[in-house]
Amino acid sequence: MMDSAKMKEKISCCCRDSQAEFLNRAIHQLDLNAAQQQLLLQSFREVTVQIPLTIHSNNNERLHTFTGYRVQHNHARGPFKGGLRFHPDVQIDEVRALAQLMTWKTALVDIPFGGAKGGIAVDPSALTSQELEILTRRFVQKMSPILGVDEDIPAPDMNTNPQVMAWIFDEYSKSNGYAPGIVTGKPIELGGLQGRLEATGSGVAYVTAMAFKHLDIPLKGANVVIQGFGNVGSYAALRLQTMGARVIAISDKDGGLFHPQGVDIATAIQFVEKTGSLKGFADVEEITNEELLGLPCDVLIPAALEGTINCDTEADIKTNLIIEAANMPITHMADSKLRERGITVVPDILANAGGVIASYFEWVQNIQRFKWERATVQERMEAHLSHAYEDVHALAEEAGVDLRTAAYQLSVGRVLRAIELRGF
Ligand code: GLU
Repeated sequence: MMDSAKMKEKISCCCRDSQAEFLNRAIHQLDLNAAQQQLLLQSFREVTVQIPLTIHSNNNERLHTFTGYRVQHNHARGPFKGGLRFHPDVQIDEVRALAQLMTWKTALVDIPFGGAKGGIAVDPSALTSQELEILTRRFVQKMSPILGVDEDIPAPDMNTNPQVMAWIFDEYSKSNGYAPGIVTGKPIELGGLQGRLEATGSGVAYVTAMAFKHLDIPLKGANVVIQGFGNVGSYAALRLQTMGARVIAISDKDGGLFHPQGVDIATAIQFVEKTGSLKGFADVEEITNEELLGLPCDVLIPAALEGTINCDTEADIKTNLIIEAANMPITHMADSKLRERGITVVPDILANAGGVIASYFEWVQNIQRFKWERATVQERMEAHLSHAYEDVHALAEEAGVDLRTAAYQLSVGRVLRAIELRGF
């Protein structure tokens, strides 16, 4: 088992190097000069804060100082936008790379935002709900000078949920007045959007269906393997099953489940809601996360952490199609090898963009003070995804590059054009 410091270092290198390499491929295609390259590579602003919190455990009180981050990468096309994650391995290199990824994602699906990301290095399962609330509120107090409805709008990410967004909204509104548009992914009762919770996973399923169509293979009866059963993986699995696909394997951090006839996803979701994990789910074979990645299937959907498909695991992969539901699940070295093997990879900035598209609608809803219907949300989200997919696919064919390089080429070009037009 890798210790936490080693794991942090691995994630840091993997994010930083992979993001730089993917951007480099687009820079090469676009033939950019050194000044343009530097502008795209560097963050606009990076803020680190220390958050002291008294933790109560086993009748003991202990003061702990947590580190929180917000990185704003680029806002040429609109306010900074991106999630906030709570995870013990969160560190600056990772947040910086993920902020940059948001800039490309919002540009690719053509919504008027830039890119940002934030996080707190904390294991939320080790805190009580009250402690988590205090930690979140203190983070907002310290970050509030750089946030704003037209400035920087956080959202859910790994281990954060509508309740955390509600605390952010409330804390920010205390000193700035009623401002539901300060954060997206809120509970419906507080100005949240119908369909936001399932938007990322549902978008992943929609993009998967588009990929099958382009590859001219039927989705009905196709064997799907999904790594990660959080908000994204579970909703993607559910919708793919509804579309007629067979989800033969799923997993969470403790391990995976396999059933050749398909796992009953709705029951698995209920099971996880009750027990907190997939462990002990009936009538399926238990497998490890490594075994899951090596299962023969029609599509593999990594929806867990960064870098799970790396030089150690790439050779085991037996599929022709990978849909990146997580952010940066494939390292650049593994990505190159997959490309050599002719495996199609639909990149994260396209595959999981359904979440931030829905966030855009929520922000619009809050500014308009007008409620959107669930069907409108789904239809318009899919229209953005469909346009982006067709654009990426057409450019990939035309330029003779892979889908990721085409996606970066498109989005980097759009961001540069905005910078040029604005003149800074
Ligand atoms: N955290 C999500 C992402 O990585 C959503 C971000 C947002 O809605 O702002 O795309």
